[in-house]
Amino acid sequence: LHNMVEDLKGSIRVFCRVRPLSKKETGQGDSSICEAVDQMTVKVKEEQFLFDAVFTPGTQDEVFEDCRDLVQSAADGYNVTMFAYGQTGAGKTFTMYGTKGNEGTAPRTIQEIFRVTAQGSDRFSYTVSGSMLELYCNNIVDLLSKANPSQSKAKLNIRQEKNGNVSVEGLVEEECSTADELMALLERGNEQRTVAATAMNSESSRSHLVLIIKIISVNKETKEVLKGKMLMCDLAGSERLKKSEVTEHQQTEAIAINKSLTALGDVIEALTKGGKGVVPYRNHKLTMLMQDSLGGTAKTLMFVNCSPASSNLDETFMSLKYAQRAKKI
Ligand code: ADP
Ligand code: MG
Repeated sequence: LHNMVEDLKGSIRVFCRVRPLSKKETGQGDSSICEAVDQMTVKVKEEQFLFDAVFTPGTQDEVFEDCRDLVQSAADGYNVTMFAYGQTGAGKTFTMYGTKGNEGTAPRTIQEIFRVTAQGSDRFSYTVSGSMLELYCNNIVDLLSKANPSQSKAKLNIRQEKNGNVSVEGLVEEECSTADELMALLERGNEQRTVAATAMNSESSRSHLVLIIKIISVNKETKEVLKGKMLMCDLAGSERLKKSEVTEHQQTEAIAINKSLTALGDVIEALTKGGKGVVPYRNHKLTMLMQDSLGGTAKTLMFVNCSPASSNLDETFMSLKYAQRAKKI
């Protein structure tokens, strides 16, 4: 079997990606405060941060090459989580989704899934399905549901089965037989997200976006069934808002985001300490959602996205500190 030894213990990798200075930043006299010391080290404020890889900013191709193996793992029945952490504007969505013609990890993952499953189709029959949800202020919004999100009062609950599998009750899950179908699903979810944000008087950067892809494989000879799952999360912006400048509504959102990101950081830190003792998954819906895909035999890839602009120094520093917790043994 592919990647067996490492797989038994699972893994957490952390990639740092520093986007280029924007025109606006250059225009206002910002300079770059992030220096790539080598391919794994970035330096900010005289402090060095070590990661599994540092991209400054790297190409979408290069970034995907370093996470391509996760698709094979999911096809082999492992659970995988990829998520992007960082302040709004740092490049999370660019990394996870990218732009037309310069696609990010999710569209590339989708292409790769169907390449891998086509390649293995003489021995296995595969079923691929997708779901998409948004976690906003502790509520799960189904982005593929036909119901208008502003009217759907139904709050979806997370369930954990005896075997450890996590599912969201009532979440739409659509089988896709081609990459195009799964891409169309993703685009539909993204459109619905904008609708939902407007209805909730918010912005998409204030919620966590989660794409869930399941791959079921049946060995044609032995009939053995393997179930793999990929969770791809574009997290809400990690920035702290200045109290004086936000409405009460925005403040509520900020508190919710902070709680969820803290819970995620706590879980990852517990896992890097060997996962002995209790891993506090149940502190938040975000970590409950990830419970079967983070830790154990699951494989995790965290992107910490950073702005290099001097005006963002504090947020960049905080993001790197947060991500560094995942690397501490
Ligand atoms: P976030 O999702 O974290 O709020 P975005 O992904 O929307 O941030 O990125 C903010 C802006 O920076 C966008 O215009 C995006 O195209 C640009 N950008 C982000 N990362 C890169 C990169 N690696 N290379 C070029 N442009 C980038
Ligand atoms: Mg974004």
